[in-house]
Amino acid sequence: AVRLRGVAKDFGGPAVLQGLDLDIPAGQFLAIVGRSGCGKSTLLRLVAGLEAPGGGTLTIGGPGEDAPPADAVRLMFQEPRLLPWASIQENVEVGLARGTPPALRQVRARATLAEVGLADRAAEWPSVLSGGQKQRVALARALVSRPRLLALDEPLGALDALTRIEMQALVEQVWRAEGFTAVLVTHDVAEAVALADRVVVLDRGRVALDLPIDVPRPRRHGDPALAATEARI
Ligand code: ATP
Ligand code: MG
Repeated sequence: AVRLRGVAKDFGGPAVLQGLDLDIPAGQFLAIVGRSGCGKSTLLRLVAGLEAPGGGTLTIGGPGEDAPPADAVRLMFQEPRLLPWASIQENVEVGLARGTPPALRQVRARATLAEVGLADRAAEWPSVLSGGQKQRVALARALVSRPRLLALDEPLGALDALTRIEMQALVEQVWRAEGFTAVLVTHDVAEAVALADRVVVLDRGRVALDLPIDVPRPRRHGDPALAATEARI
């Protein structure tokens, strides 16, 4: 679980986040939407523990839980950020903790590549992959350490519409299979309501709307209940 209370953040200029209260229960799929510059990526970096709040409190892990291990949080971005000189398999292994024994690294990377549908591409180079396939590798790299929280910053934003829908299904599938907490920043409200349990709308660094998405899973694109929920955001 992640808990923010009165969180504020600035970078020396005006407040980017202010008076932010937010609880993210373990296992939830939360989507964050809002205009460009409203503070979504900043909030995501705080939730991922990459940045400290300027004010207020942020706690990761519930009372009595140990401090989360270093590989408990993983991030994924709009750009896959793969190493061009390393094989697809090696790119996935990058996501594992340093001390992981080599034999285990291989097994885990292979299994995770299979999970994202790239089992037969392990020995190839990232440059031969399509944009969507590169994001599959980035997803495998994020998942291979079995994180407790996956922070996704517009991960599908650069993909064409059909690939994006395929990738949405994959993200939901791995979230259901693995049970991690997912925090997805997206500009695409349809994507937010299709995937998330809950959508938070940020406006100038504050929570403007916090809406549960009660549409049962599996959700189908074009479902009128999704369109109705989308209209409320
Ligand atoms: P977008 O949808 O365009 O990605 P965003 O909602 O993710 O926008 P942030 O990246 O969180 O927005 O930025 C919010 C504000 O904070 C912006 O005004 C930005 O210039 C500022 N900001 C973010 N990171 C930094 C930084 N490291 N240094 C200075 N200013 C920053
Ligand atoms: Mg951003």
